[in-house]
Amino acid sequence: MKKVAVIFNGGTISMKVDEKIKAAVPSLSGEDIMAMVTGIQGHAEIENHTFSNLPSPHMTPKLMLELSNLVQELLNREDISGVVITHGTDTLEETAYFLDLTLKTDKPVVVTGAMRSSDELGYDGPFNLATSICTAISSSAKNRGVLVCFNGELHSAREVTKENSMALNAFSTPNFGPIGIVDNNKVIFYRNSPESIHMKIEDVKKDVALIKCAAGMDSSFIDFAIDKGYDGIVIEALGRGNVPPSMVSGIKCAIERNIPVIIVSRCFEGRVFESYGYEGGGKNIRNFGAIFGDMLAGQKARIKLIIAINYTDNITDIREMFENGIYDDNICE
Ligand code: ASP
Repeated sequence: MKKVAVIFNGGTISMKVDEKIKAAVPSLSGEDIMAMVTGIQGHAEIENHTFSNLPSPHMTPKLMLELSNLVQELLNREDISGVVITHGTDTLEETAYFLDLTLKTDKPVVVTGAMRSSDELGYDGPFNLATSICTAISSSAKNRGVLVCFNGELHSAREVTKENSMALNAFSTPNFGPIGIVDNNKVIFYRNSPESIHMKIEDVKKDVALIKCAAGMDSSFIDFAIDKGYDGIVIEALGRGNVPPSMVSGIKCAIERNIPVIIVSRCFEGRVFESYGYEGGGKNIRNFGAIFGDMLAGQKARIKLIIAINYTDNITDIREMFENGIYDDNICE
């Protein structure tokens, strides 16, 4: 029988409503949660590990790196077929993407959690954990990067986002939909995951600001980020990757100081491109050095830039990590 390491790392899946506070707080151990995944011992041997009991708003990139090192250690063991990690749903996509970028493995790695705490009607933790374990022992889940398993759906960590603050199917993949499902314990993939890149990181010393654009905004927040000493800036720009004209001076100022500025879109779907040449248009800001982040959501572009700048301050290399040749030509092939 295949062995799966399950790493417990807090979130609603490990919470109960506290009588006094009248709201959910971390309370269950890994063993308490596993006891509710009835019948799983007929499918896989489980090895429990506890990383933390944190709600996911308490996760940090430093903790993500520690978690990545622990997962890598387990994956390096021959007797472990795959790893499942529980996580609060709020920042789950950020940790899953961090793991995807930093782990080196062909074994399945699955991140899951719950939208209902253990004493609410309809607690979804045991089902999500069971389907994640089925995925971790499935040979079809090998070589697909880190997966997120929720509500019987499988998403690639590179694409998934939390799109609903309360529904059981809180996670979705914009543009494309899930890459697979778990149906009757069987793992079925309908398409391939996007290509992965592997990034190195040894320590998290540098930080990245994330700034969302809105009509009429100026450079104040960018100037603040520069003054505060942020080492990189991600801008969730408008539409195809455009910013209000009064943000242009801030972007220029950051680039002059060798601070990488990544442009992604505040739109839920689609990618950024240099379609517009007016002041603040995508073409205009890319011409003086802004880097385009394709379809990444702002919070994920931030994770990628944190990993990038903690490894190198070479802007050409960082541009390559984000643009990866996809903005080079404009030719129909
Ligand atoms: N606020 C919780 C957390 O992210 C939500 C959840 O786990 O579903 O830890």
